[in-house]
Amino acid sequence: MKQDTNEALIALAMKARENAYCPYSGIAVGAALLTETGEVFLGANMENASFGPTLCAERVAFGSALAAGHRKFKRIAVVGAKKECAPDRHFPPCGVCRQVMAEFCTGDFEILLSDGKSTRVLTLSELLPHGFGKEHF
Ligand code: ZN
Repeated sequence: MKQDTNEALIALAMKARENAYCPYSGIAVGAALLTETGEVFLGANMENASFGPTLCAERVAFGSALAAGHRKFKRIAVVGAKKECAPDRHFPPCGVCRQVMAEFCTGDFEILLSDGKSTRVLTLSELLPHGFGKEHF
């Protein structure tokens, strides 16, 4: 399976979701981040009893890719639902994750949201209009 299709990315995000550590919210989220060079990095949310250190699946995927030296990205697939349930709605990235995406991605970066039946493709500029960024320094 080619990893750079939307369907493949969503399938990988679904797989990553299985490894979510979410004992507090019970909501498992998976992400699959495609780099400009065609590699895919996975993320799953990792919660913490102190809540503040909790990381979303999207930021885990970005951290993993950054640690491997990647800085340019094409798109990310995100899926989420209660741990014991299959995704049944689109799970958009939270505001913090949108800001992290804005650090490394341009406005045309694509965010794929899947509920297991349909896929919605949004751009970062749609999700974070008028965002704060490097250009403000
Ligand atoms: Zn988030």
